[in-house]
Amino acid sequence: MELFKSKILKAQPLVLAGPCSAENEAQVLDTAHRLNSIGVKIFRAGVWKPRTKPGGFEGIGSEALKWLSKVKRETGMLVATEVANARHTQEAIDAGIDVLWIGARTSANPFAVQEIADAISQYPQNVRDSIAVLVKNPVNPDLELWIGAIERIKGAGIERIGAIHRGFSSYGKHIYRNPPEWRIPIELKRRMPELPVICDPSHIGGKRELIGQLSQQALDMKFDGLIIESHCNPEEALSDKEQQLTPEALGEILDSLIIRDKNDTTESLDDLRRRLDAIDNDLLEILARRMDVAREIGQYKREHGMSVVQPERYKDLIRNRVGMSAQLGLDEEFVKRIIAEIHEESVRLQISN
Ligand code: PEP
Ligand code: MN
Repeated sequence: MELFKSKILKAQPLVLAGPCSAENEAQVLDTAHRLNSIGVKIFRAGVWKPRTKPGGFEGIGSEALKWLSKVKRETGMLVATEVANARHTQEAIDAGIDVLWIGARTSANPFAVQEIADAISQYPQNVRDSIAVLVKNPVNPDLELWIGAIERIKGAGIERIGAIHRGFSSYGKHIYRNPPEWRIPIELKRRMPELPVICDPSHIGGKRELIGQLSQQALDMKFDGLIIESHCNPEEALSDKEQQLTPEALGEILDSLIIRDKNDTTESLDDLRRRLDAIDNDLLEILARRMDVAREIGQYKREHGMSVVQPERYKDLIRNRVGMSAQLGLDEEFVKRIIAEIHEESVRLQISN
């Protein structure tokens, strides 16, 4: 378990950093040396990249493994890459990669995870003991599927295993690229207290501006580490350029993170406050989506000569929403007030558009 106990920040969290993708030897080595000099001990780089659509940069493939070996030789850092099938797994282990991670699209697929587990099982125990495997959450918010993937890898005789929380896919506009749904990794920690859980603020946030605050939130929620994308020249990155930080910018973020004293009695209150902050963000996003729909309705009404306020519809709406309040444990009067406020704002938008 040494790998997960390394002290990289002032206190304890484990930090993995490196580019989304290994693009060429110079980019890999430049980034690695600069990360090494800010104290990062584990270098990440995607060799095979799962892209949503064909035509995107799909990674350099096997050749890039040599650059990672060079990073190990030149810097002494451990190296990590993503594997998505048996061939990737064998090539990565044979190339001396220390940490394999299973990506979000792969952990959603039990056949693929089992294939990776079977490939790992072919190696003697001393090799299996020398690597670590990190399992990202599946793209969909399914805790059982995440746990299932972790169990499959455990079943392959891997002791050093951890989880990576990278947020969950969702449709529509969001503050985050992959909304964090913190309650899911928190429940994972409750169900598997021994399992290190690392946060990936880069893929949650999707924008470099969000990485500092997400990292702090994760530490406040007692995550065991961070995996953050860093590129020597983010503007030129071939994948995920909006969310990559220069090694120096990452260094500043890491220096600014506060590791709260484990005996601080107000800590549990902080955890709860972080959860409230996250829920408030979700509420605002949902309200914004509702107002978008209200605007569309407004346009339809204008085009069809309908009046903006339809009293029958308003009555139904209130009755229906208030009817749900008891089931949700919410006060009826409170729900009435909120719905009336929201409705009023919708009307205002429809009139002013
Ligand atoms: C990545 O880490 O670069 C990656 C592809 O992440 P995810 O599987 O979380 O999308
Ligand atoms: Mn990426």
